[in-house]
Amino acid sequence: MGRVKFNQMLQELSRKKAQGVIFHKIDRSTRNHSDWSRLIDLRDFSDIKLYFSADGIDMTTRSGRFVADINMAMSKHYIDNLTEEVKKGLYGRLKQGLYPFKAPIGYLDMGGGKLKEIDPTKAPIIKEAFRLCAEERYTFNKVSAYLAKNGLTTSTGRAYGKSTVSRILHNPFYVGVMEVKNKTFIGKHEKLISTKLFHKTQNILSSKKTLSQGKHDYLYRQLITCDCGKNLIAEKQKGRVYYRCHNRDCLETTIREDRITSFLKKDFNKFKLDDYFIKEIGKRTLAKLGQKNQNQNKFNSTIKLHLANADGRLNKLTDLLLDGSVDKEYYLTKKKNIHMEIANLEDKQAEKLLNFKEIERELKKLLELSTSLYSAYILGNKQEKRLLLKKAFSNLYLINGTLVIEPKEPLSLLLFSSSVLLGGLNQTNTRKLSCQEQIDTIVNKLFEYFTNYRS
Ligand SMILES: [Zn+2]
Repeated sequence: MGRVKFNQMLQELSRKKAQGVIFHKIDRSTRNHSDWSRLIDLRDFSDIKLYFSADGIDMTTRSGRFVADINMAMSKHYIDNLTEEVKKGLYGRLKQGLYPFKAPIGYLDMGGGKLKEIDPTKAPIIKEAFRLCAEERYTFNKVSAYLAKNGLTTSTGRAYGKSTVSRILHNPFYVGVMEVKNKTFIGKHEKLISTKLFHKTQNILSSKKTLSQGKHDYLYRQLITCDCGKNLIAEKQKGRVYYRCHNRDCLETTIREDRITSFLKKDFNKFKLDDYFIKEIGKRTLAKLGQKNQNQNKFNSTIKLHLANADGRLNKLTDLLLDGSVDKEYYLTKKKNIHMEIANLEDKQAEKLLNFKEIERELKKLLELSTSLYSAYILGNKQEKRLLLKKAFSNLYLINGTLVIEPKEPLSLLLFSSSVLLGGLNQTNTRKLSCQEQIDTIVNKLFEYFTNYRS
């Protein structure tokens, strides 16, 4: 069944032109996961019945639907394997020095398995573009204009954007090297420019890049959001750095860099949790995760026993059929039941054991971060400060002249639940109780976070 026919069928089904569909086999019913879910939607929301004649799957029961989904997931795996095969083919070509993709501008496609050939009309223009960049220091915009003037434009006739020009001027294909996903291969095609010109171009391009980076290397660049939703833009005035909103409606919105820094220092100091509580939280969270792992482990061994048992019964059943003790119909019904049982057991087993070692490491890092935010911020260099802000926090918001900072998960789990735990504590008895409650809340949240943690 073709793509068009399949869509047509779905349309007619959604208009209820039929009550159901009969497929031969489940993995022949759809080609990809999104088609499969469209089919499932019809089943679940429009009461369309699905039948699979060769698989004997009963889509009216929960376990039947589960088996069907599993089956589909397996065939998706099959499709993934196919793409692997295709990839292998591509790498094979690349290793032979052939470029199995569309020819870069300045070259011509000569058909599959053949080398790209130099395009006699476009190649000289590309060559000149490299020279203009390397010798005359043309910017991307000027190169783009030169290319357009000589007829090299997008398919709609517009001049190339900066990114396209950049891609051309960085592409080592022109000196015989093919770069695919950060891997390079030696190509057998004819070079368009000399390696000397290419290297000169690369040097010019990278010096431009560091120059422009240096110019904008402000500490809070793109980290502060204005009330209006725009990012504040850094600028230097009389030796001081300011961050200003360029939205015309809030031109008043501006803040000095050192004020931001002192605000952050104050906040990070406030975020600091008491060492005793940090230890307690770490200990309890780990214990709780360990308990869960143990339970899951026990549960999984029980399931394994049940699965072995079901397998045994399946074998016996086959023996009974073979020696004629039961008829085929009885055999098929029983077999189906056991298959359902197995699917159900595997469903339960699906919950994997936690990667305890890794979680322990992550938790330790998190707790360390929460105690050392302040010192890390004070001692870190510009890059480290930026990294810390970006990784652990949302953007800074400047709202009515005040800076607001929000920790991201999982740091937020520690900091938001701990209003009493934060800062110096006066430990009276009532306070202690509410501290214990808060520790419990934090432990529960961390437990939940790490239970769903994927490494
Ligand atoms: Zn604004």
